[in-house]
Order: sequence, then structure tokens, then C-alpha cells
Amino acid sequence: MSTLLLVIIAILLLLLIVLIGAIVFFALRHFKENIQVEDKVDVKKRVSPFCVDHDGVFASASCAITGESLCDECLTSIDDLKIGKKNIDLYTPYKWSELTMFRNSHSDLEDRIKLVKKNLWENNNMPLIIKGHYKINVESDEIESFTTLICKDLDEKVVKKELSFLKL
Ligand SMILES: [Zn+2]
Repeated sequence: MSTLLLVIIAILLLLLIVLIGAIVFFALRHFKENIQVEDKVDVKKRVSPFCVDHDGVFASASCAITGESLCDECLTSIDDLKIGKKNIDLYTPYKWSELTMFRNSHSDLEDRIKLVKKNLWENNNMPLIIKGHYKINVESDEIESFTTLICKDLDEKVVKKELSFLKL
């Protein structure tokens, strides 16, 4: 009798272990998948609040060329743009042209452009400058925000292709 009981207990324990193992396995897998999805979603939005070159110093803007977060000390202003002092050689020697200017309306489009900027920079070493500015609409007396896209003349063909959804 007691042997039978022990065998039943042993079988039940074994089942319990298998069950817990399965739960842990699927929970971990689910968790991992979620993290990966979040990574993909956040990639374009993840901007550090700190200067990449100064630990603990708050960034004041991101470099128009590289997109890195930088503090006032690391940034300089040229042509109404904030550019990292260390990246100035990536800007001044070249001729730049405005690709397009549009009124900001849907953030989806802006996110898409930011993603193109990121990919162009990381994969092709081609900077795409996204410049935001405001205009006062005299008729409606409202402030409207605009975005201008600027690239090097040298890169124009490739950049336009990447931005084909804008129909430039
Ligand atoms: Zn800094």
C-alpha cells in the first residue's frame, strides 16, 4: 500500500516538475519575444537625455548630422543647425541642398523620416538633416511647424531613393 502511494506521489511530483518546466519555458519565450518587439519599436525614439561624451551632463540637443545627444559644450550652431563640434568636418566642406519642406501634420511620417535618417547614417554614412522651424500664419494668426530635409548634393540620389515615399 505504502509503496503504491509513494509511486503515485513520485509520478505526481514528476508531472508537477514537467508542468512547472513548461510554464517557465513558455513564460521566458514570451518575455523574450516581447523585449525584441519593444526594441524594434523603440529604436527610433530612444534618445538619451545625457550627453554621449559627458557622463551625467544633460544633453541640450542632438547633432543634426549624427543624431547623437550632446550638451551645450559639445555643440555649435551653424546655419541655424546644432552640430556636434567633433562632427563639423562632416558638414562645412560640403555643399548642401534642401530636398523638401512640408508642414508637420502626421507624426507617422516624421517617425518614418527619422528612421530613414538613422539607417542612412548607420548603413551608408550619409547624413540627412531634419530641420524643424516655425512660421506664423498671418491669416489665421496661428503658429505652424514645418520640417525641412537637407542632404549633401553628393548623396542626393541615394537619399531621394530612400525617401521615395515623399514623392520628391
Ligand atoms: Zn558634452
